[in-house]
Amino acid sequence: MRFPSVETLQDWRTSAREFLNREIPPDQIHWNNDQTTPSLFGDDDDVATTSNRATAENGSTHHVPKAFLELASRVAAHRDPARWEILYRTLWRLTHGEKQLLSITTDDDVYRLVRMRKAVDRDVHKMKAFVRFRRVHAAPDDPQSETYVAWHRPDHRIVSLAAPFFARRFKGMNWSILTPDESVRWDQESLTFGPGVPASEAPSEDELEELWKTYYASIFNPARVKIKAMKAEMPVRYWDTMPETELIPDLIRQADSRVETMIAKSEGFHETATSYFPGFDSETPLTLSVLNEAAASCQACDLHQCASQVVFGQGPANAKVVLVGEQPGDQEDRLGQPFVGPAGQLLETVLQSAGIPRSSIYVTNVVKHFKFTQSGPRRLHKKPSSREIYACRPWMEAELAIIDPAVVVCLGSTPAQALFGRDFRVTNQRGQVRPTDWCRQTIATWHPAAILRMPDGERKSAMRDELTRDLAMISELVPGISR
Ligand code: URA
Repeated sequence: MRFPSVETLQDWRTSAREFLNREIPPDQIHWNNDQTTPSLFGDDDDVATTSNRATAENGSTHHVPKAFLELASRVAAHRDPARWEILYRTLWRLTHGEKQLLSITTDDDVYRLVRMRKAVDRDVHKMKAFVRFRRVHAAPDDPQSETYVAWHRPDHRIVSLAAPFFARRFKGMNWSILTPDESVRWDQESLTFGPGVPASEAPSEDELEELWKTYYASIFNPARVKIKAMKAEMPVRYWDTMPETELIPDLIRQADSRVETMIAKSEGFHETATSYFPGFDSETPLTLSVLNEAAASCQACDLHQCASQVVFGQGPANAKVVLVGEQPGDQEDRLGQPFVGPAGQLLETVLQSAGIPRSSIYVTNVVKHFKFTQSGPRRLHKKPSSREIYACRPWMEAELAIIDPAVVVCLGSTPAQALFGRDFRVTNQRGQVRPTDWCRQTIATWHPAAILRMPDGERKSAMRDELTRDLAMISELVPGISR
């Protein structure tokens, strides 16, 4: 019997590779889950000690499918102590005659791994949507010492999975996120991982600044000798040297975060919808209706001054598909519901042709207030600015985090650029299924209003066919959704 002690994915990989090369079957191994969480307030010397084994890897003669490595990279963050054992058993089976195992979703091991992966992905989404930063000054007299700190309590050990997202979005700022198990700091160049803050020390908003100063002093002070040893344990160091790095989309996808950072800096980091998010914890989680109610009083940008009301998303909370538009129009603003005007009617017709019942879909917009210019009695749609999109998008991100759909469809360039990045062009990239920070299967297509506005009849009809075809793809991606 072997008793490997494993804390990180890299530990597991090292041990698993060795066992596999020696042909040691799963029932000969008892995986110890060594998650002794180093505490911020404990002794730094206790920080985990498994890194050296990472260098002891020897070449494997087995071919391991990429899909398995990708699955393992997510499952490793789950808290279930059985994950290492199930991962090894699955790896063993994959390399011992069951090559197609991962496609057998009813298999007990595969089923459990996929469930764990889903739980981790959902937790990462929630962290991205609900982390709220607070501005603090490490040294009150030094403006350069400005930093942003957030406290978050994820269900799983997902800090290293979510951190690249924050590094992209808030590239030009210093920030730290503290969680009970781990913490991470971004200094505008690199991510530094450290120990957590015990849940018993969970800070209130007011205590965050004090806590961060203690944290900074005790953890991220470069003068501390132990910092080197601590850095050596950082999961991200392993990611860099892993041949499968390209499998981790968070780390390689280039998002244009410069504009967002500029907006965040010049407009004040707090003035986004997150300032209007209601408080939440495990007993009172954020739901769509709680968010909807809170959004009604959002003043994160000036659009609330002229619009009649907030138009929040609509549809089932367990929808497998979310359609995201740009912003409500005139009718939507009057009725308080998304896509009920002319563009909504065209959408409804096209959904019908594609065989997708609208009632099964959640429909929302990136911007929740109508922006317009008055022209006589008419209110003419105006495109929202980057600042307005930046301020409002946390509502949409929170909707996506709560719903966790299998497919997101962006209607037009505003949602497409919000999710895929500012370089995205609907004209030549529509209809492609790609992963984004919010959904593994995200598609962009024409906005129905763009079709309505198209003066060239032939082009109009071609665009309509393309929209129908793109929406029909939903049935392939979500079996059972079509009527
Ligand atoms: N256009 C949109 O983008 N959203 C609506 O809700 C209506 C029109």
